[in-house]
Amino acid sequence: MSDCIFCKIVSGEIPSHKVYEDEAVLAFLDIHPINPGHTLVIPKEHHNDLLDTPPELQAKLIQVIGKIAPAVLKAVGALAFNLGVNNGREAGQIIFHTHFHIMPRFSNDGHKLWHGKSLGQEELSKISQTIQKHL
Ligand code: AMP
Ligand code: ZN
Repeated sequence: MSDCIFCKIVSGEIPSHKVYEDEAVLAFLDIHPINPGHTLVIPKEHHNDLLDTPPELQAKLIQVIGKIAPAVLKAVGALAFNLGVNNGREAGQIIFHTHFHIMPRFSNDGHKLWHGKSLGQEELSKISQTIQKHL
């Protein structure tokens, strides 16, 4: 897509700090990392978000993440990482070209995860049944 930043990174029109590339997938460092080593893993083909991405390509992205995450961790001396997808505007997606975030984590690095809400058993049960109906 002509006005997509990540497509421009794939084509080389915009520079990136590449960490991995194969025929279908590219991984490069995030320019505003939550921690050193924060890596974005994207399909070379343009798809707006994860649900818009063909299942085989979703699977390929996960395979590549499994391959490169250990190298990312070794490179920055981290023992753990969060894997993230902001899917859709309300979830914080800014770049509408499918991408996974590999975010290395360190003890007491100040990065917070979400705080869980409390829902009653009845509501949990209703939601799980409704999800199943939509499958
Ligand atoms: P999001 O769409 O919210 O999942 O996040 C998009 C991510 O892309 C952000 O973490 C940005 O820092 C990152 N980003 C934006 N432009 C570039 C770029 N040119 N090179 C590397 N990372 C980028
Ligand atoms: Zn794109």
